[in-house]
Amino acid sequence: MAGKAELLLIGRATARMMDAMAADFTVHALLDQEDQQGWLAENGARIVAIATDGHWGASPEVLQHLPKLKIISCYGVGYDNIDAAACAARGIVVTHTPDVLNAEVANTAILLWLATSRRLIRDDAHVRSGNWEKGPAPLTQSVENRKVGILGLGRIGQEIARRIEIFSPTISYHSRNEKPGVSYRYYADLTEMARDIDTLICITPGGAATRHLVDRGVIDALGPEGTIINVGRGTVVDEAEMVQALIDGRLGAAGLDVFEHEPKVPKALKGMDNVTLLPHVGSATVQTRQAMGDLVTGNLAQFMRDGTVISPVPECANM
Ligand code: NAP
Repeated sequence: MAGKAELLLIGRATARMMDAMAADFTVHALLDQEDQQGWLAENGARIVAIATDGHWGASPEVLQHLPKLKIISCYGVGYDNIDAAACAARGIVVTHTPDVLNAEVANTAILLWLATSRRLIRDDAHVRSGNWEKGPAPLTQSVENRKVGILGLGRIGQEIARRIEIFSPTISYHSRNEKPGVSYRYYADLTEMARDIDTLICITPGGAATRHLVDRGVIDALGPEGTIINVGRGTVVDEAEMVQALIDGRLGAAGLDVFEHEPKVPKALKGMDNVTLLPHVGSATVQTRQAMGDLVTGNLAQFMRDGTVISPVPECANM
């Protein structure tokens, strides 16, 4: 009798995911191999499935060792570290975890926006340091009646917009295509939108197509009273330009969950109290991470059962 199918785990998985995957697969954790290249060269030909995440992805250097690979199940909705078009061309289906994290990531965007505008971290320090006994904290910026522009009004972007509505804003958005049936003002040009808003919320995918969409021109259009909230990908914002603009006072504030070279964060940002920094935790609650893990293993299990998947990435939707 043939043994179980073999799965390569790139990155780490929870105990619940490991248990679920063990029903169909013998799981090999790449991080446990001392000589990863040697292990792949020796064993790669037996691998039919990969479980990975948005951070680790699946590099061409790994994929070249896996001639029998049929499925890559990615933990996370962003899959910019997997060449999905190349996988589809090779007959490999790529899945991700959309929708189950929309609410959580939208909550993180609101959290960052409120924390940044109201200087939550600075004021918390004001209490802890005892400085409150010497005087009140300086005034902050209201989140009421702001002009908010959303860069990427997709699944998560729309959830963010829905939450922002309670703060009586003017909402507009930029993406490549105007969304039918949406009442928010659409801007085909991001710089033009940036001129008309005071708060820019970035929630597009990463990858080459969105790299540095928020460049110096956009940052300067936003201006000294402007705030950038980034919960999409660090690569979407020209980080060096953003840091310099914050130093120069050409940009007002920033709330950042994502960075260009994670987990490295520019030193200058760490000293600024008009900046709120999070370690890429947009979806990182127990509940949402469990739902994401279940979708990762659900895609794998369904594929092994009947060759179909629950949530393919768009490039693999018609395979
Ligand atoms: P989605 O539904 O595919 O929405 C993406 C939006 O971005 C769409 O409105 C799309 O509109 C727009 N877009 C794509 N490429 C663009 C471009 N080149 N220029 C301008 N707009 C562009 O995706 P989602 O589920 O909302 O997720 C969005 C991203 O959020 C993910 O890909 C991931 O990178 C990030 N994310 C981050 C975290 C975190 O922990 N911080 C968690 C989850 C997701 P058009 O196609 O019309 O351009």
